[in-house]
Amino acid sequence: GKEQDTVLKIKNVSVVFDGFQALTDVNVKVKRNSIHFFIGPNGAGKTTLLDIICAKTKPTEGNVSFYPADGEKVRLTGMKEYKIVKEGVVRKFQVPSVFVNLTVEENMELSLKENKGVWQSVFHRTSEEEKALIDETLKKVGLEKRKDILAGSLAHGEKQWLEIAMQFVQKPEIILLDEPAAGMGKPETFKTGELLKEIKKECTIIVVEHDMDFVKQIADCVTVLHEGKVLMEGDIHQVLADETVQAVYLGR
Ligand code: ADP
Repeated sequence: GKEQDTVLKIKNVSVVFDGFQALTDVNVKVKRNSIHFFIGPNGAGKTTLLDIICAKTKPTEGNVSFYPADGEKVRLTGMKEYKIVKEGVVRKFQVPSVFVNLTVEENMELSLKENKGVWQSVFHRTSEEEKALIDETLKKVGLEKRKDILAGSLAHGEKQWLEIAMQFVQKPEIILLDEPAAGMGKPETFKTGELLKEIKKECTIIVVEHDMDFVKQIADCVTVLHEGKVLMEGDIHQVLADETVQAVYLGR
């Protein structure tokens, strides 16, 4: 049925911060295995919407539901942030946060251990199966030859890709990304897009982004936010051709 294609449903979400209405009655459905962008001018509410999904912020009204590939609908609103991660919804922030004194491979190993309990992780040695998974994942982000290099000596773009790999190796169903190509040049940005297209075969990706070339390269669906409301939603080319959207971007 139609609902099987929906992996995330944001329903009637409003957020008020100390009297300031950051989001008003936002409704969004995200399709499984798609790359879905939240775009819009500064202050539109994009980051707040990501915060709502991962329960960093509680909505004043409305809720967010996650539909796992196998299993029952999960209400994310009201859950603890770490539980949402366990459910398979993970967030990557804009600033890279890899362990600079560990190698690329060790960072990946740590990421796999993150989901285990403390005692298991202290005594756990990476299995052959996990090593194979790490290799396969590093290959997807083009870092397979950088395995033994200290993460601290990676270029900025490579650090971002490592972080995406660290999330992806946990086999999430949804990855939330905040400007994954920030600070990258054109070739690196393009490469980031290509690797996200590879990754979406196995999970859904929700991205907050300003760079429209990047959005055009990979977007399956775009939600335009403006002053906390959904202004428009659909295909990126339709959206950018819309006069209201153009007016918002040009500030007219
Ligand atoms: P965007 O990501 O689209 O630039 P944000 O979601 O960061 O927009 O912010 C939307 C609006 O909500 C902004 O006007 C911002 O100042 C306000 N805002 C965001 N977080 C808070 C908060 N914790 N307290 C008060 N106001 C906030």
